[in-house]
Order: sequence, then structure tokens, then C-alpha cells
Amino acid sequence: MDNKTSNTIDFAAAREAIRSYSLKRGAVAVGICEAELVERIAPPGFGPLAILPGARSVISIGVTGCTRGTWKSTAKVMTFIGNSVGPIYRASFGLSFFIEKTFGYPSIFVPPHVDPEYGARVPIQSLKLHAELAGIGARSMAGDILLHPEYGLLYYGSVITEMPLPTDPPMAENPCPAPACVELYRRQGRTPCQKFCPVDCLSGTIDDTGEIDEMVCDMARCAEMCQQYENMPNIIDDAITADEVLDREEALYGAESQAFFYKVTSAVGATHAQCFECMRVCPVVTGAPQADPIRMGEAARKA
Ligand code: SF4
Ligand code: SF4
Repeated sequence: MDNKTSNTIDFAAAREAIRSYSLKRGAVAVGICEAELVERIAPPGFGPLAILPGARSVISIGVTGCTRGTWKSTAKVMTFIGNSVGPIYRASFGLSFFIEKTFGYPSIFVPPHVDPEYGARVPIQSLKLHAELAGIGARSMAGDILLHPEYGLLYYGSVITEMPLPTDPPMAENPCPAPACVELYRRQGRTPCQKFCPVDCLSGTIDDTGEIDEMVCDMARCAEMCQQYENMPNIIDDAITADEVLDREEALYGAESQAFFYKVTSAVGATHAQCFECMRVCPVVTGAPQADPIRMGEAARKA
């Protein structure tokens, strides 16, 4: 379908229709920012125009994380059910079709994947930047993970469209650091996320007014805990270079390798986002008013 002429479209109403569709598909937060704004801030070649040359707007949506019970479970259980990437794919993929079908503007679901030219840790687009500029998340002291004052930790997806839409401002206030974190920092010199990171990859300072002064994340250490992108070559390398048959067998068939192959071949559990310790102890993640997915669902249905 061609674009409907702009004078037949009520863009404010269209914005509400997009919001309403996203909420019905499982999102709890929806924000929109100008593609041009993202383009100015993203590194060259990583802005919206790189994947949709006529891009005018970026729509960011957030879905809920896990239940309260999951947050109380063990780290190994959380590696299987801690994240919510499935629902976010479905909601944002559907939204791109909804916009094209309803309003006629070319739209694209942003692949939440890596840029194949740059290896395993450079995304095609920063979904985090989209969400931040669209006002549905603010950068925290926990490695810049976005937090939302109402919903805590969300999983984000984006749609880029040629449709010009009314935008939302970035959040006026950052929920991080929470008052309890400032207090702990004043007493012990560390926030909860810094204190409980198992590999000490978080550091930084809070200023006299209780705001983030500096956030430092040793991404290499965090990545080693969170991601298994290098597992396969490591297993092969260990097997090839093993001097003894038993060592080779351990590399190929040991418990760790078996668990990895199980996840990959059965597509159960994640090979990324496996460590949740900084989020488990975050008072915003577990204590925000709508942090409980059950309450979130009720609020979404009401909306
Ligand atoms: S995800 Fe784990 S390793 Fe990474 S910063 Fe958080 S606690 Fe540390
Ligand atoms: S625990 Fe959460 S709120 Fe507190 S400093 Fe860390 S990320 Fe911010």
C-alpha cells in the first residue's frame, strides 16, 4: 500500500494506535524519538538511516522481565528463564507490519543482532540508545543497563519507520542510583550492583547530590560471564591442542561442553544474558512500583 497522504492522517491518533497495538502485543512501555536525533548520536553507519534510508521515527518498546520468584532462584536457573527476548521480537516484528498495513509507511523491525562485519559484540543498531532517546529507560551504574522508574528492568525492541510521528522526550530523572544505593555507597564505597558483581567489573562514583558521577564497566569481564559466543571455537581449540585422549574427551564431552551443546542444539536457554547478579540486587529492578510482571500485566490490560 502507498503512504496515505499526510493530510489524511491524524498523527497524534496514529501515535496512540501504535501505542495501543504495542501494549496489546505485550509491551508495557512505548516511546518514540526522531530518527534524525538517533542519527546524530549513533556512531557513523550505525544510525537508523543505515538500515532504512528514509527513516523519520524510531519506536522503542519494552516488555517485562521475569517473575518475582525467578529473581529469587539460582543463577543457573536464571540462565534459562531470566530473559524475555521472545515476546519483544514478536511485539516489535508485528508492529512493523501494523504500521505499514494501517498507515502505508515503510517500516522495519530492527534486528536485535550483531553487525556481521564487526564480530559478536557490535550491534547493527543500539536498541539501548533508541529506548533512552525515546524516554523509556535511563542508563544505570550497572554497565549502562537501562532502568525504568515504574517497571524496573525491561527488554527492548525497536521499529524504524518513514512515518513522521510525534516524539517523546528522554526521561527527566534517572531512577539510578536509588536512595538505598546512595546510602550503601556513602557507607561502604560501593553500590549494590558494584558490590555483588561476581567478577568486579563495575565501578564508578556518585556525586554529592546523589547522582551518577562516573560509571565504569569492564565489558570484557562482564562479557565472559554473560556471553558464550566464543565457546565453540574454545572447545574445538581445546580438543585439537589436548595432549591426552582423556583431555580431548573432556573438552568435547565434559559437563560444560554438553550443557553448551544442549542449549545450542535445542534452542533452550540463552548463550547470552546469562548473569543477572547486578540486577538481582538492584532495588529499582525488584522494587519499582510495576516491577512485578503480574502487576505490570494488570496495568497494561487496564491501559
Ligand atoms: S551481568 Fe554479571 S558480570 Fe556483568 S556487570 Fe552484571 S553482575 Fe557483573
Ligand atoms: S543497584 Fe541498581 S539502582 Fe543501585 S546503583 Fe546499581 S543499577 Fe543503580
